[in-house]
Amino acid sequence: MMDDNKKGPIYVTQPLLPPLEEFIPYLESIWENKILTNGGPFHRQLEQALCEYLDVKYISLFTNGTLALMTALQALRVTGEVITTPYSFVATAHSLLWNGIKPVFVDIDPLTFNLDPQKIEAAITPHTTAILPVHCYGHPCDVDRIERIADNYGLKVIYDAAHAFGVKKQGLSVLNHGDLSVLSFHATKVFNTFEGGAIVCPDAKIKQRIDHLKNFGFVDEVTVVAPGINGKMSEINAAFGLLQLKNIDAALAKRKALDAQYRAGLAGIPSIHCLPEMPGETANYAYFPILVQDSYPLGRDELYQKLSEHEIYARRYFYPLISDFPMYRGMPSAVPANLPVAQKTAKEVICLPIYPTLSHEQVNFILSLITAPLAR
Ligand SMILES: *Cc1c(COP(=O)(O)O)cnc(C)c1O
Repeated sequence: MMDDNKKGPIYVTQPLLPPLEEFIPYLESIWENKILTNGGPFHRQLEQALCEYLDVKYISLFTNGTLALMTALQALRVTGEVITTPYSFVATAHSLLWNGIKPVFVDIDPLTFNLDPQKIEAAITPHTTAILPVHCYGHPCDVDRIERIADNYGLKVIYDAAHAFGVKKQGLSVLNHGDLSVLSFHATKVFNTFEGGAIVCPDAKIKQRIDHLKNFGFVDEVTVVAPGINGKMSEINAAFGLLQLKNIDAALAKRKALDAQYRAGLAGIPSIHCLPEMPGETANYAYFPILVQDSYPLGRDELYQKLSEHEIYARRYFYPLISDFPMYRGMPSAVPANLPVAQKTAKEVICLPIYPTLSHEQVNFILSLITAPLAR
């Protein structure tokens, strides 16, 4: 692991990077066999290793999570309107627009920040074909209720599971819910391949369709069955992923300890709200969101500013809401009155730094900056 650079800036996350010398043998292997991409040996090995690690049936690797989302929608032939959350990274809704699909925003649950299942049915119209929920911050959606609604109305469900690497609910992978789940392996995520992503598939048939779609629609040298795209992960990224998997359990354990330290340090401050720990879950501690409530002496942006004056670069994920960006805000479902919980959460949230090489001293320093205004 790298040095805990105690001085100097602290960002919201630092990428997980194994020791450089451990990557060299993988590179030598690529230089030797001269297979750079197109489903080479590392690509196959990583798909296999991830299926085992994540306890899922099939995985198709991608260049990035956004292309994986766009391809998942294509694979299920989703059209018309799709119900989704405004409280996410902008790629969630962008993947719909790139497919010519209309996003319909539904408000979030105040406890989990996930799509509120109680509000989904009212947003269904004859044009609705699917639901695109996000396991926000890696906390599982109410998958059972979403499944019941989807079954009742004949809708597909694609989970944006970009935050949910390794997350389990009652001992079972959360990635096995819905028709498909989409992962991101971007540098900022819990598990990264520099850039990368994947679609988790329940059966071999849909995996094959997705494998064709990410390779221009080629089935063999002369047969193209769909207007596919180039979404293939390269061998260098796949090799890095294999090395990364060796370190992931230690990284998750370190995140868990930091999460516990933040929770203990903030427990006595009623004006700072932490996302509750969910019972019966294996979390991945991908983010540490807090809500800065009205009773705290500083406003959210003042605290954010104060942290940055001390070179603590927290992030206001997810502010602004997706529904407030110019390409969405004219839509009827994007009006703030339709999304009161998401609007309030976006105004109060700060994600504090959390990553495996963050030290307990650094977390103590961040906690001291948060508690200091209360002492006055
Ligand atoms: C990171 C992220 C994406 C996009 O993944 P990329 O690999 O960066 O393309 C999509 N949705 C959510 C919720 C994300 O956090």
